[in-house]
Parts: sequence; C-alpha cells; structure tokens
Amino acid sequence: MTDSWRGYELLGGHLALDLVNTVSWRLDPAKTFDRLDAPDFLALWLARTGLVPGDPLTDAADVIDPLKELRETVYRLLVATDQADVISFGERLAAARGLAVAEATLPLQWTVPITRIADVIPALTLTADDLLRYPDAALVRQCLGPGCGWLFLDRTRNHSRQWCSSQDCGNRERARRHYRRSREQQPAD
Ligand SMILES: [Zn+2]
Repeated sequence: MTDSWRGYELLGGHLALDLVNTVSWRLDPAKTFDRLDAPDFLALWLARTGLVPGDPLTDAADVIDPLKELRETVYRLLVATDQADVISFGERLAAARGLAVAEATLPLQWTVPITRIADVIPALTLTADDLLRYPDAALVRQCLGPGCGWLFLDRTRNHSRQWCSSQDCGNRERARRHYRRSREQQPAD
C-alpha cells in the first residue's frame, strides 16, 4: 500500500463509481482531496481495477486532466442529471464507440483495447455508459457521512445502505450518536 491509496477502497460496486470516488471528502471543501493529483495513484488504480493488466503504464500523468473531466461529468450525471452533461457524455460516448471492438460471441461486449494510456478514457467512458444506461443507475446512493460524498450501488434487499463503508463513515456516525447520547444522559449541574 502506498500513501496515495490510504483511505481509498474499491467499494462503489461499479468501476465508474470507484472512479468518481477518487475524490475524497467531495462535499467538505475544507477536506476535499483528489487522489488523481497524487503522482503514482492512477497507475496503481488502473492495475488494481484490472483495467490495465500487467505492468502499470508509466505515462499515466498524460491523461489526468481528461480523466478528471470524464469523472466529474459522470458524477454530475449520477447525482443531478443535466442536459448539458448528457450532451457532453454523448459526444465522449460516440468517440469511444468508434474505437470499440467486440469478440464474435453473443452478447456482444464492446470494449476499447488499451494499448496506450490515452485509451483509458474511451474505455472508462464505455464502462460509465454501462452503469448510466441500465436500471442499476437507480441504485446509486451517496454516502450519508457528513462531507464524504462517495457513491455506491445499494444492492441491499430493502435499499437501506447508508454508508460507503460501515467501518468508516458508519463507525464515525455511530460514535457521533453515542457521544450525543452520553452527553444528553449526563445529569445537569
Ligand atoms: Zn462515506
């Protein structure tokens, strides 16, 4: 584990959500930080998500800005869909489809083969499209932890998942409630 990975988990339930979650504390401007700004993070992320098998690509820094743009478009589409973002995503998608290939097996699985770092953008665009186009998009929730902002797919039977991680934001909230309760129970002087 390197430092740039600390506190990050692949817990979105979909690669597009794990991409969105590369921003930590998105809803708390005083604490927000973007892991894509860490020099080694993207290469590590691509290797650990299996998007780029084998050796990490060394020139990952070249795609940071376009990747951030894609990530923020996907985030906005998931939390507050807006026509301008739909159009912008549609343009990215058309470009990605132009590069996509599929094996001659049904159902066709269109993917962008990654032979150079720039291919990561269209590949992730198709991945995001897989989430945005299907009913799973309705299962996307934003963690209720104050300031957290991480997104995840709520696959619980009664759609009751509230936290990105019960050990992390869930624990913090339990501690907060416990603290409040214990203060309320203290006898007044
Ligand atoms: Zn959280």
